[in-house]
Amino acid sequence: MQKLIMLKYGELSTKKGNIGLFLNTLKENIVITLDNLDYEIKFDKGRMFVIPHDNFDLIVHKLQNVFGIHEIVIAYEFADNTINSMATNLLDLIKDYEFQTFKVITKRSNKSYPLTSMEVSAKIGGILLKNIPKIKVDIHHPEKIINIELRKEATYLYFETFKGKGGYPVGVLGKGLLMLSGGIDSPVAGYLSIKRGVKLEAVYFESPPHTSQEAKNKVIELAKKLSLYNNNLKLHVINFTEIQEEIYKNIPHEYLITIMRRMMYRISEAIAHDIKAKVLVNGESIGQVASQTLTSMSVINEVVKLPVIRPVACFDKVEIIKIAREIATYETSILPFEDCCTIFVPKHPVINPELTKCIEYEKLIDYETLIKKALKNHEVIKITSDYQKNYEDIL
Ligand code: ATP
Ligand code: MG
Repeated sequence: MQKLIMLKYGELSTKKGNIGLFLNTLKENIVITLDNLDYEIKFDKGRMFVIPHDNFDLIVHKLQNVFGIHEIVIAYEFADNTINSMATNLLDLIKDYEFQTFKVITKRSNKSYPLTSMEVSAKIGGILLKNIPKIKVDIHHPEKIINIELRKEATYLYFETFKGKGGYPVGVLGKGLLMLSGGIDSPVAGYLSIKRGVKLEAVYFESPPHTSQEAKNKVIELAKKLSLYNNNLKLHVINFTEIQEEIYKNIPHEYLITIMRRMMYRISEAIAHDIKAKVLVNGESIGQVASQTLTSMSVINEVVKLPVIRPVACFDKVEIIKIAREIATYETSILPFEDCCTIFVPKHPVINPELTKCIEYEKLIDYETLIKKALKNHEVIKITSDYQKNYEDIL
């Protein structure tokens, strides 16, 4: 008998055409997550197994943080699939668990097995009833479900499962560029897109000396926390000072934010193009501030061709904060350092900006040259998995 971990990937298994890519990516992500641990991985028709050689519980715990896994099953593999042998093994395995009601579910993919699944369940159930005092069968709400899988290659018993993180394996849907500010919303937006299989890089716009080193450190810290879910993370830091000052000097103040955000979008799209990201991701939430009215969003969005994913667009702040707490970014996000938007916020930002005015105002600055310069000087901070060891307590 061998104790191993069977992984169930729910949603994933519906992606028939892509299953090879999905499984390979999932496997790669597991290898990164289980770095330094002693185990092997095997595949068996639509199932993936992790066989720990050591640290069984730690491996189960770590797998609970890998996207794309829906259920983690502690399974026992047998060669001998006679009723007697299965029942003896099961009685031995289950003796440490307390339960009053149970049911047996048998799956028989080995069609040459002499009994039907119903017959196997009934026989095994009968033996349990005889041998364990005071237990009863409950078909509808059993405390313990005992699963038997009769496969050609082997037979599996399992009755203990843990919930996985769900979603898709990171990277399976390609790459995205997250606009990461020091706020609460954008790290949550990043996390939610990683969960859908998008591998992220991030861009942060800083405006020294108007924004401090502490503000930048805060974003680096958020990027480190996100890197735990993303396997690693590249943070592109753009010096936005000159562009922002030019806007501030030359453009009517009610349009400061609109034009500034159009510049951020343009730069983000250029970076996305360089790194082959297919989408931009940001933390905009409908109606939260003047730049997030539908008119503002469409006027800002107008400068880019890439799709812009806004995972928290329809969440209110309470819902966003709940996720921020779950992923441990909240404490960092609420640190009080100004980001570049808050410093240049006008008293009365326009709520319904007009595109024609934006285009007219933008002629007042040589933004193309400024953007080129900002892109040329941009800094890249690589957050690697070495860092993650310090953060294992978050997960
Ligand atoms: P957040 O809480 O994420 O900072 P916010 O509510 O403060 O969002 P805005 O400042 O309008 O909203 O920003 C909207 C989105 O634009 C942010 O969620 C982020 O994705 C992006 N963004 C804003 N400022 C920056 C910045 N300095 N660098 C990178 N992206 C930014
Ligand atoms: Mg912000």
